[in-house]
Amino acid sequence: MLPVFRISRLRFGTDGKGITTLVGLFGCPNQCRYCINYSWFKIKPQNLCIHELYNLVAVDDIYFRITGGGITFGGGEPLLWPEQIIAFAQLVNKKWAINIETSLNVPWENVEKLIPYVDAFIVDIKDMNEDIYLAYTGESGAQVRKNIAQLAQLIPQKIVVRIPFIPEFNASEDIYRSRMAIENMGICSIDVFTYRKCSTEWEKQPQNRHKGNNINA
Ligand code: SF4
Repeated sequence: MLPVFRISRLRFGTDGKGITTLVGLFGCPNQCRYCINYSWFKIKPQNLCIHELYNLVAVDDIYFRITGGGITFGGGEPLLWPEQIIAFAQLVNKKWAINIETSLNVPWENVEKLIPYVDAFIVDIKDMNEDIYLAYTGESGAQVRKNIAQLAQLIPQKIVVRIPFIPEFNASEDIYRSRMAIENMGICSIDVFTYRKCSTEWEKQPQNRHKGNNINA
């Protein structure tokens, strides 16, 4: 079963090639300061078997096929659910693209086993500096840095790295250093962008910050 909290259809240019459907999976090892999907805390995920999920997303089959798009698993952290995603990918059988939006803060085994089934790993790297990563996410980024280096050795052409400007946590020189580190791994597809800060007092309360689920962050 996959814990799905959100299905967002007909996306273009944000989560992989072509037209995609974003499937948000519940749970995340990080506790990012500006995770904007805090509202999902109040919503229980729907546990779907791969066939139920397939039937829901197949409504856009024609769009996926025409544009080379498909399904993007995001979150939360989709790499907490590698076996289920593999089963779904086998069901799809290369008819649609399968993309993963991830922080990569998971054991390497979770990443490695998905490599044959994934068309693009879209990695929100946060910052390559450990102090910044720890301050922003509440977790160490050591595993992330190991995973991105190993993934880059195997499939650099299938990786897109997003490097955010994180207000109050990093600066342009940090972003430059992260970018250099990523480029030196042989990854060419790099996207620099800015996180939206929490805008309300409610959002800033730790208990209201989600431990998973930020499609944008
Ligand atoms: S879903 Fe993304 S932004 Fe939210 S806590 Fe996890 S890694 Fe951070």
